Amino acid sequence: MTDLNQAWPPCAGQALETLEIDTLVVGAGQAGVAMSEHLSALGVPHLVLERKRIAEAWRTGRWDSLVANGPAWHDRFPGLEFDDLDPDAFASKERVAAYFEAYAEKFAAPIRTGVEVRRVVRNADRPGFTIETSQGVIRAQRVVAATGPFQRPVIPAIAPRDEGLYQIHSAAYFNPQQLPEGAVLVVGAGSSGVQIADELMRAGRRVYLSVGPHDRPPRTYRGRDFCWWLGVLGLWDAEEVQPGREHVTIAVSGARGGETIDFRRLAGEGMTLVGLTQSFEGGVVTFRDDLVGNLAAGDANYLALLDAADAYVARNGLDLPEEPEARRRYPDAECVRHPIRQLHLAEAGIRSIIWATGYAVDFGWLQVDAFDAQGKPQHQRGVSREPGVYFLGLPWLSRRGSSFIWGVWHDAKHIAGHIATQRSYLAYRDAEQRQNA
Ligand SMILES: Cc1cc2nc3c(=O)[nH]c(=O)nc-3n(C[C@H](O)[C@H](O)[C@H](O)COP(=O)(O)OP(=O)(O)OC[C@H]3O[C@@H](n4cnc5c(N)ncnc54)[C@H](O)[C@@H]3O)c2cc1C
Repeated sequence: MTDLNQAWPPCAGQALETLEIDTLVVGAGQAGVAMSEHLSALGVPHLVLERKRIAEAWRTGRWDSLVANGPAWHDRFPGLEFDDLDPDAFASKERVAAYFEAYAEKFAAPIRTGVEVRRVVRNADRPGFTIETSQGVIRAQRVVAATGPFQRPVIPAIAPRDEGLYQIHSAAYFNPQQLPEGAVLVVGAGSSGVQIADELMRAGRRVYLSVGPHDRPPRTYRGRDFCWWLGVLGLWDAEEVQPGREHVTIAVSGARGGETIDFRRLAGEGMTLVGLTQSFEGGVVTFRDDLVGNLAAGDANYLALLDAADAYVARNGLDLPEEPEARRRYPDAECVRHPIRQLHLAEAGIRSIIWATGYAVDFGWLQVDAFDAQGKPQHQRGVSREPGVYFLGLPWLSRRGSSFIWGVWHDAKHIAGHIATQRSYLAYRDAEQRQNA
């Protein structure tokens, strides 16, 4: 085997099956790129393996019209700006992918694309791990799993087994033209669900949107984007989900220059809101009686952020324009005044269901002692309980911002620091060893 630690960075044509590397990073989305930047800065020999292309999720795992949820000044790494965009604009998904590709080029990140990591096991008789890839077996002392927060689309078991319905997860939605004619039920009203529902309504579809518990910060308030407010109010840094709020999604959008998600406005424009989707039977879908409560909780969350922002302005004596109209409430449409509890799909003309119901992680390839009985990664700020294994990019890895562009860069820095410290322990030589060296 070539000891890549002696000949680092690797040259492009080097055969993978001959490699031995200090740290292997799996995945070259934003997490893998950030990890590589910090490892490079600390001089840690490493290699990033990506099964497809850099930032693949942004290229093919998102719908056609998606733009970043945060403005260009915010949704980026510290070392590079979107120099072709207004800082307050929202980058298209292609632009985000190009950004990460350019970022990786900037420091010549040692990324190999088109290589899938299939299995990682701890070595039985010596330190480190053996890694089976689609291009051979390599060895590494450490492995960073940067395979994303959203690996496996989840469609709940209640989905009807009705051959006549077109059913997809939001990960497989690209544009309205891909759906058969007719009305659409969108299940889930987080950022994906609400944006897809809005796009379909604008394309002339009749849309039913199933709304669960959600946060919905104002897009802007008193001239500042919600990303700014979450930053100055310390909310991106929250370290734990508040108990009972694990399933509360966040509904934001950068579409059409960015606007606040207001479900009542959408209902006023013709979207039919319903409560959480409960069951399907005999062509009839049943919704929970929680629409009004979910909207009220979303409003309370929205108003709490306005209150916190006002208090921040007053406390710091800031000169930001007042915005009383942000507290205006749209009138309740019929679907909110009298929520629908049951709907006959065929009678309502529903021919498609889009499940915007989130994702799960899938670490089947990582066969080490770093998971609980349910397969949930066990770690502290990304440092797993299996020495030498790290997780990066997971939701709430260290804080609320962890799975987002801005947050993952800081988590990567922490993990790189941990790796460098471990390497310095291993590099220690006692007096006798030093003398004999
Ligand atoms: C619809 C949507 C919109 C979003 N919008 C924003 C936004 O505007 N702003 C923001 O900050 N965040 C946003 N996010 C959240 C987050 O930024 C993205 O999910 C982002 O793609 C996560 O980056 P990542 O590098 O952690 O994971 P990913 O981008 O998923 O990258 C993981 C990479 O690992 C590779 N991989 C997986 N398994 C293997 C393997 N076994 N071997 C080799 N390679 C492997 C994959 O091919 C992939 O390229 C959004 C998420 C979604 C779903």
